[in-house]
Amino acid sequence: MYVVSDLLSFIAQSPSAFHVVKASEDMLHSAGFLPLMWGKPWQLERGKCYYVKVFGSAMFAFRVGKSGRGKRGIRMAAAHTDFPGFRVKPIASMKEDGYGLLNVEPYGGLILSSFLDRPMSLAGEIVLRGEDAFHPDVYLVDIARPLMIIPRLAIHMNRDVNTKGEKLNRQTDLAPIAALLDCDCGEDYFRAKLAREIDRKPEEILSYDLTAYPVAAGCTLGFDGEMIASPRLDNLASVRAALDGLIDSNNASGDGIDVVALFDNEEIGSRTKAGASSGLARELLEAIYRALSLDADDLAEDIARGFLISVDAAHALHPSHAEKADPTNRPRLGRGFVIKEAASGAYVGDATSAAVVRSIADDAKIPYQYFANRNDIPGGATLGSMLSASLVMRGQDIGVPILSMHSARETMAAADQESLTRFITSFFASEEKKKDRPKAKK
Ligand SMILES: [Zn+2]
Repeated sequence: MYVVSDLLSFIAQSPSAFHVVKASEDMLHSAGFLPLMWGKPWQLERGKCYYVKVFGSAMFAFRVGKSGRGKRGIRMAAAHTDFPGFRVKPIASMKEDGYGLLNVEPYGGLILSSFLDRPMSLAGEIVLRGEDAFHPDVYLVDIARPLMIIPRLAIHMNRDVNTKGEKLNRQTDLAPIAALLDCDCGEDYFRAKLAREIDRKPEEILSYDLTAYPVAAGCTLGFDGEMIASPRLDNLASVRAALDGLIDSNNASGDGIDVVALFDNEEIGSRTKAGASSGLARELLEAIYRALSLDADDLAEDIARGFLISVDAAHALHPSHAEKADPTNRPRLGRGFVIKEAASGAYVGDATSAAVVRSIADDAKIPYQYFANRNDIPGGATLGSMLSASLVMRGQDIGVPILSMHSARETMAAADQESLTRFITSFFASEEKKKDRPKAKK
């Protein structure tokens, strides 16, 4: 039985994309994975497992099959470390009538109103002057205690709030109160308080990448605890399932390379250095193959034989709005992980890839459902199609069904996390029996 508290504590440790990578590193380290440095030559041994962090907010974990190259090529599970929220702007202190406000910027497609009246804290990186200009000191910071809140207007001042909804201006309605100030003097109160938190002087802080996140932890719901309500289920449920799947799986045939790829910046389009469009995945594979004394032909052959699963949350049928779901492909909470298909190519996959996923799930008796968008309600896209276009590989988009995607708190079923984790474990463990694959050279 899947242990829900493992997912909840992973999410609690992960209030920023940098912390997702740190929490993942802790898991991999405990499971015996060995650390590598990005950009340095590697010495890899067959049968061992490794991880490498890239730019602090992306990461790869991989297992090198113990018997060398074989039939199975490369298997990769990819997910994203980022999530919608608020980023603090470089000059952030604002003062209004004695209130110390923070100038923040929405990150990703968040449901703005869901973040109102929720105590929030700050987590991410603070960068200080280092030994020379090109080597500043980077500190991972999670202040963890409630610091600020974006207050709603009282109903008496917004009588239509329950009938006409909340219209929010992205600049003027979203500044959290972070301090009560006793003077309107010109000092940068935020930088001063931030410096105090890390025991440094304000002028030492050169820059930061800080996320304002709701501090309330996730919890189970339902009379039998069958649901989970938590921040960041999109997409930390997938990150956790991908890592659990790689760690728990046994690659019995011992060949090929199994990879978990965790990219940043999916929520803003993936076109960044740590995003899935960056070419990082190909650079990783090239580095692995060089370290194993394999050549470009070997890599091309193993990518062609390989398989990608792009793991991201899917929309579950909403109990009060069934009309928003596709008439026949409408996943429900608790009925298993979801196979996503879109004629638009917004998700990675084709008929053969979907059949591969179904076969693995059927063989392991893992429940699954289908998701497709209604034709008149276009859904989002995932990093899968972008990744499979640059790393030309077969693949399929999958994920857990959730409610309230991109809200400050999302809801899913505990059973679906178990279904997804078992599927990813089986994906990495499944053997290939067919004989007419290209012959292994080494
Ligand atoms: Zn997502």
